[in-house]
Amino acid sequence: MNLLRDIKGTLQPFWVTLRYMFKRPVTIQYPEQKRTPSPRYRARMVLTRDPDGEERCVACHLCSAACPVDCISMQAAEREDGRRYAAWFRINFARCIFCGLCAEACPTLAIQMGPDYEICNRDPLNLVLEKEDLLIDDGGKDNSYHFYRHAGIGVSQPRGAGAEESPPVDMKTNMP
Ligand code: SF4
Ligand code: SF4
Repeated sequence: MNLLRDIKGTLQPFWVTLRYMFKRPVTIQYPEQKRTPSPRYRARMVLTRDPDGEERCVACHLCSAACPVDCISMQAAEREDGRRYAAWFRINFARCIFCGLCAEACPTLAIQMGPDYEICNRDPLNLVLEKEDLLIDDGGKDNSYHFYRHAGIGVSQPRGAGAEESPPVDMKTNMP
C-alpha cells in the first residue's frame, strides 16, 4: 500500500505540470493592466471608522504588540466622554512584512489589510504613514461592527446594556 501511495505521490505532480503545459499562459501586462486582488489580499493597511463615523481605534497597543517587526507606534489619548483614541498613529511600511497579525489582534476591527499593493517608493521616509494617511471614511470589511456597543462600559452605555450582554446580577440575591 505504501508503495502505491509513493508512486501516486510521485506521478501526481508530473501530471499537474503536464496539464498546465498545454494551457494558454496567463500574462498580465502590468502596470498597464491591473489585476483585482482577492478580498483577503494583504497589502497596505487602513484605519477604519465605526457605523457612527467615529474612529474605531481605541489606542490599545495590541496591534503594535503583535507586530513581529515593531513597525507600528502610537500615542493614546482620551476624550472628555472617556472614549479613547490615538493622538497619533504611525506605520513604517519600509519594515512591514504584510503578515496581517496586527489586523488579527485588533479588537475593534480598526486596522484592516487593504488591497492597495502599489506602495513602492525609492525613499523609505515616504513609506512612513501617519494616521491622516491611514484613516478612511468607511468601515472596511465589516461596516456594521461597533466595538463600543459591545464593550463601552462607562463610556457609551452602563454595565449590562451592551449588545448580547445581560444585566448584572446582584450578588446578594445568590446568597443562601
Ligand atoms: S502586517 Fe504584520 S508586519 Fe505589517 S504592521 Fe501588521 S503586524 Fe506588523
Ligand atoms: S488599531 Fe486596533 S489593535 Fe491597534 S491600537 Fe487601534 S484598536 Fe488597538
